[in-house]
Amino acid sequence: MSSPASLASALGHGLRKLVGKPAKPSAYRLFDVQLKAIIALSPSLARYVFSGDDVAQMHTLAADQRIKIFFPSADGQPPRLPKDGAWQQARRGLDALSCPPMRTYTIRNLRREVREVDVDFVLHGVNGPASAWATRACIGDRLQIVAPDFAFEGDPGGYEWRPPKDLRSLLLVGDETALPAIAGILEHMALAYADVPVQAFIEVPDEQDCIDLTCSAATELNWLPRDLLNGDHGEAMLQAVCELARLPRVQDHPGCTAGLEDVDIEQQILWECAAPDSGEFHAWIAGESAAVMRIRRYLITDRGLDRKALTLMGYWRAGRTFD
Ligand SMILES: Cc1cc2nc3c(=O)[nH]c(=O)nc-3n(C[C@H](O)[C@H](O)[C@H](O)COP(=O)(O)OP(=O)(O)OC[C@H]3O[C@@H](n4cnc5c(N)ncnc54)[C@H](O)[C@@H]3O)c2cc1C
Repeated sequence: MSSPASLASALGHGLRKLVGKPAKPSAYRLFDVQLKAIIALSPSLARYVFSGDDVAQMHTLAADQRIKIFFPSADGQPPRLPKDGAWQQARRGLDALSCPPMRTYTIRNLRREVREVDVDFVLHGVNGPASAWATRACIGDRLQIVAPDFAFEGDPGGYEWRPPKDLRSLLLVGDETALPAIAGILEHMALAYADVPVQAFIEVPDEQDCIDLTCSAATELNWLPRDLLNGDHGEAMLQAVCELARLPRVQDHPGCTAGLEDVDIEQQILWECAAPDSGEFHAWIAGESAAVMRIRRYLITDRGLDRKALTLMGYWRAGRTFD
């Protein structure tokens, strides 16, 4: 017969075998959230405040932290993907009617202590599942979000705002979909790089979308409202970059101008991230893909800027849907 001590040790061993090592948290996880409030910011933009017990475990690492949001499926049901980590597989198994559409958004604010997360939605009509949901949303609506897990110890990624420590000049360019990220970047600049000159160009649909943003005294904030400027989407951003942006002199930045390859924005997302050698100049540019492509061509081919100083992201493509 075993002694109590050896029995305890045998049992402990058995238990360990049964339970195994606790699973390490993965970088991202699925969060259940419920719509708590809608705050109108301007004619084209509204803040959606989501809450839920899970949000206590959400994490954000930078002002442009991206998340995936699942919206109600075509049959009108709220998303109910499993939270055991197998949501991708489960989603693949669903038919078109019951599969929750997924779109990319930015965490505008995370208040983990009160279990709330804010996402600013562009209201562009009932032409896509995200904007359609936002247009008709009711308090209490349930969605699901994939976001970084606070319990994860490494860097989960999912953000491109990584300013060089010795940053000396920043150019920010974006349309209304990039406004939530740019607003956060400006706040970060005011806190952490208050003396660094920032030039920001933000194209929005309506003059009344030019909302108050927190900026450092070293920031030159330029709004580009399309209703006043009478241009198509992206034209004002390009024109502003060509005519008003303070760019470094080419000889200071021997860019890779030869043979700049185009990105097929009808098939893939334009996504190029800066890897600067120095902090002399950094640009963060996001918005409609064709507009960002034109700005990319101008900065690299026409002005010879170093690609490594530029973060260029197509946040959406006019006339197309990417799930
Ligand atoms: C990293 C990242 C972060 C983003 N963050 C935000 C954010 O914080 N807030 C935000 O509002 N958007 C954000 N976006 C953009 C958002 O993902 C797209 O606008 C998305 O297409 C909206 O989905 P939808 O279901 O409304 O439309 P979709 O089903 O994708 O598209 C339906 C139609 O609407 C058009 N369309 C899509 N977006 C717009 C638009 N903004 N204006 C006019 N027409 C449009 C499409 O071209 C298409 O013709 C982000 C995108 C990325 C990649």
